Amino acid sequence: MNISRSSLKYSRVVLKLSGESLTKVNNFSNIDSNALFFLSKEIKQIIDLNVELSIVIGAGNLFRGSQLQKIGINRVAADHIGMLSTIINGLVIHNSLSKMNIKTSLMSAIPVNGICEIYDWNKAINLLSNKTVVIFSAGIGNPFFTTDSAACLRAIEIKADIVLKGTKVDGVYTSDPKKNINSVLYSKLSYQEVLEKELKIMDLSAFTLARDYNIPIRVFNINNSGALKRIVQGFNEGTLIN
Ligand code: UDP
Repeated sequence: MNISRSSLKYSRVVLKLSGESLTKVNNFSNIDSNALFFLSKEIKQIIDLNVELSIVIGAGNLFRGSQLQKIGINRVAADHIGMLSTIINGLVIHNSLSKMNIKTSLMSAIPVNGICEIYDWNKAINLLSNKTVVIFSAGIGNPFFTTDSAACLRAIEIKADIVLKGTKVDGVYTSDPKKNINSVLYSKLSYQEVLEKELKIMDLSAFTLARDYNIPIRVFNINNSGALKRIVQGFNEGTLIN
């Protein structure tokens, strides 16, 4: 059932998914079919609400440049491997959403002829307006960046209402909840507070980009069933930074 977009708090969103969201907790497979199915169902719920959704996918389940550098691979080449890995994850999500009859387009910041389209902001906006999910892969296309930077940059470019950062924890805490049982979840923070308290939400270049262009960020637990849907409907899930 399609619901009018006027009932939505956010109608155009960038969902940032880490590569690890495609894996299962405590499982060593790079891509887990249950995790993928769960994610796709969560996404379907907001597509049915008519949300214009774009996804920026990471590659922590496959390769991160910083890890490859530690085993002696040149950092630029290592980041190229990381970016290519996001395209692989993009293909996986594209396939999963398509199987659910969700119109989906995969774009890459690096040209990969015959496999996916090259990133084009104008085309992306048109696709979103036509209710097609757009997956942005290969980050921003340059080494020394992360897919968090890509999420913030693409959000600015396509004029998204918010960046939703899906994580494995419930939001931003006063300290690491795994190490400190007394840590408290923030429901709201300003960009300034995040910087002053040195809270690690995303890397600094991504975060300052969001701050400079006033893109709100919501950090939430993607594994909480229905969380994505509640957020676009305006419920207070996770931590809002604005
Ligand atoms: N990467 C890059 N430029 C970008 C985005 C990503 O070089 O614009 C590389 C980098 O090596 C990074 C890897 O791709 O470690 C995977 O991205 P990320 O670490 O953001 O994945 P996530 O942690 O979200 O799964």
